[in-house]
Amino acid sequence: MIYQWVLGGIVASLLGLLLLDGSRGKRVNSRAGGHLMQKMKDECVKSSANGECCSGFGGGTDVIVVGAGVAGSALAHTLGKDGLRVHVIERDLSQPDRIVGELLQPGGYLKLIELGLEDCLNEIDAQRVLGYALYKDGKNTRLSYPLEQFHSDVAGRSFHNGRFVQRMREKAASLTNVKMEQGTVTSLIEEKGSIKGVQYRTKAGEELKAYAPLTIVCDGCFSNLRRSLCNPEVDVPSCFVGLVLKNCQLPHANHGHVVLADPSPILFYPISSNEIRCLVDVPGQKVPSIANGEMARYLKTVVAPQVVLNFLT
Ligand SMILES: Cc1cc2nc3c(=O)[nH]c(=O)nc-3n(C[C@H](O)[C@H](O)[C@H](O)COP(=O)(O)OP(=O)(O)OC[C@H]3O[C@@H](n4cnc5c(N)ncnc54)[C@H](O)[C@@H]3O)c2cc1C
Repeated sequence: MIYQWVLGGIVASLLGLLLLDGSRGKRVNSRAGGHLMQKMKDECVKSSANGECCSGFGGGTDVIVVGAGVAGSALAHTLGKDGLRVHVIERDLSQPDRIVGELLQPGGYLKLIELGLEDCLNEIDAQRVLGYALYKDGKNTRLSYPLEQFHSDVAGRSFHNGRFVQRMREKAASLTNVKMEQGTVTSLIEEKGSIKGVQYRTKAGEELKAYAPLTIVCDGCFSNLRRSLCNPEVDVPSCFVGLVLKNCQLPHANHGHVVLADPSPILFYPISSNEIRCLVDVPGQKVPSIANGEMARYLKTVVAPQVVLNFLT
């Protein structure tokens, strides 16, 4: 499961974008850039045929992007670089403080290079990640990424997600044809089965509408808008609890550490030169209460002994 979301996160963040185009609920997985440009041209041709040709192109916005997380920011920058006029609407433009998306796999790093976004890893104290150390029942092994054929710079990177996202937002917003606005999209505007734009509430509380030939929703796993397009059945078998450990070292420098513990895995990886993220997978839909001490008890009695057993033997 860990690998699913670590790898899945990269794919979902940088490649698997949900494109909302003409038809309701139609999903198109597209590489940002070339395929998307082609798709927009196709849409234009289709729109011409029904007399609505690209009114948005003349009017101002080519693409609305909802959400400026990893996906929305990368997409806005890529489309902006391609010359499109992009209107990004993000609920909160202050630096996020989240425990998600902190470990970028080498494939994600290569993707950043392809998108011209690798400098977003500069000046955020990102750490190189060369592979994983796996622990189980007091035994361990180390797995390195097979990077022999790549430039020595190519490796995973781990960091504070918020610092990375903020750099990507800044980079996208630095393009004159990308408008980054703080606002919460409350609904998609649909006419005759086509998404025409979005309704949103600005930071000042104003209710506005924005229109464009293409709306791309990148509002993350807690999306409200997805529900208006499909009926996602989300299974929540467990929750992640995150801790930051300061000024300590992991057994293997520049490696993620996975303890295959009972009842579920515990992860460690550096997120800066003096901070280690510990992520504990806690089974069940509710995390133990912090207020009544259940959480501390769980961490001390279930988690800590297994970490000590594995790291110190
Ligand atoms: C515990 C955990 C750990 C993870 N660790 C990793 C990891 O180590 N490596 C990895 O690659 N992946 C990881 N993932 C997965 C990764 O976090 C996601 O794939 C990635 O964050 C998805 O990026 P996104 O831009 O699609 O969504 P998000 O990062 O969630 O961004 C969505 C954005 O949309 C905005 N938004 C939401 N609703 C609205 C609205 N109505 N109007 C305007 N804006 C809105 C939000 O404010 C947010 O900025 C992890 C996930 C979890 C849950």
